[in-house]
Formats: sequence, C-alpha cells, structure tokens
Amino acid sequence: MRHKCYILFKSVDVLYKLWIQRNLAIDMIDQSLNVPIDSEIEDYIMQKIREDYLADSTVTIHLIGANSAERLGWDEQRFIKRELQASLYNGVGNTRNGILGVVLPEIYQLVFKGKQTCGQCGGSPDVVKVNDNTVVREFSSNYYMSSNKCCYSEGDRYCVLTSWIEFCTEPNKFIDQAFSKRTDLIANKVVVFPNRGSSLANSSFF
Ligand SMILES: [Zn+2]
Repeated sequence: MRHKCYILFKSVDVLYKLWIQRNLAIDMIDQSLNVPIDSEIEDYIMQKIREDYLADSTVTIHLIGANSAERLGWDEQRFIKRELQASLYNGVGNTRNGILGVVLPEIYQLVFKGKQTCGQCGGSPDVVKVNDNTVVREFSSNYYMSSNKCCYSEGDRYCVLTSWIEFCTEPNKFIDQAFSKRTDLIANKVVVFPNRGSSLANSSFF
C-alpha cells in the first residue's frame, strides 16, 4: 500500500520536487502553501492548512536544502514552519503526518559529518547536524527529542531523515518508515510549536 504524501520545499528547490513527480512512483498531493492564513487563532490556522493543503496525506516529505534553516528567520521560513506545524498537528478527524526529511546534495557536507567516537558510551555513531544552521526547529525538535542522551537511536526520533540519493533509490521504504512513526510511542512526545528560545543547536549523534 502506498501512503499519500505532501511535499514541502522552498521555491528554490522546485526542480527536485518536479524530478520526484516525474521519476518516482509516489502518491503525492501537488500543492503548497504560499499565501498566509489570515487568523490569530493557531488551532484555526492548523486546521485550515490540514484541510486545504495537507488534505488526506499521511506523510510529509520535507526537502531540506541550503535555504531551509531556522537562522534565516520567521519571515523567510513562515510557510515551511506552518506546513510542518500543521503536519505535526493532531487534528480532529485528521491525524498528524509522519515527517520524512530529505537532505539535498548541496548541504550533505553541512549535515552528514561521518562517524565519530562517543566519549561517553564508546559507540561510534554517525554525526548528523540537525540544528538551526540546517533546518527549522519544527524539524530539529522532533529529531533530537531528548536532551540527556549522548547517542540517539532510531526509536528516539519522530522525524525520519535521509539523503536525496538514498531517498531516490528506495523512496517507499523511507515513506513507510515515516508513516509508522505516527503510531509509535515516540509520537506522544511530538512538539508542534517549538519554543523559540530553546535550541538543540549543538552537535548530535545518530
Ligand atoms: Zn554515546
């Protein structure tokens, strides 16, 4: 069974989205949020985006490129932040989506730092920089979800992360993985509106 996907990307990365559409066997909704929802009420905004844009999708594929970082500010990121919030939001009769982050080749070196020995547990995890320099906090807060760990395992995360090349090789494997997180225990710890003051900006591990 294929899960319906919503694709979330910065307009500069539209060619990647088109490539996916033309070349990969993915069931996807072809629309994006590019006008603000006119309301002060968060619940209304979330419900509206879920109904009008995310519709019956169950997985949000977030293309992460050079312009997807928190440090670029709210005005620059307001659409992708709203789309991620609405994706994470557990609405009435319209439950939250799984989140699959796909790192685009232009920032591989910024994100994937290779293996490093952990001074605390002696493991040798892959160092992955998911922080304010690479993604918005709606993503990072649901990727590194616990501050008291030296190393993380797949079960510690709600968001799934992969690279463009791996995604293109086996798209539905990663989509299934993100889909199954929706009913995983970790879904109880999802943060929809991350605190702007707190940051998990330090280096972190797989
Ligand atoms: Zn460790």
